Amino acid sequence: MAQKVIEPETRKLVCNKCQQEMAMAEVSATYLGANFEIELMKCPSCGLVYVPDSLATGKMEQLELSLEDK
Ligand SMILES: [Zn+2]
Repeated sequence: MAQKVIEPETRKLVCNKCQQEMAMAEVSATYLGANFEIELMKCPSCGLVYVPDSLATGKMEQLELSLEDK
């Protein structure tokens, strides 16, 4: 069974608030009480971070794995 990785967003994302095009940025995230950095789409204007559905639903184990690598 192949394990899926978090795929980078290829389509353009626009912030709902400022209509600014979002760009990849390293953001701090917290999971299970641990802080780590992850690359996510972020609005350069208001700093809103877009969390893809794949990340929000069931891909957190992947984040946990990348945490252990550090
Ligand atoms: Zn924005």
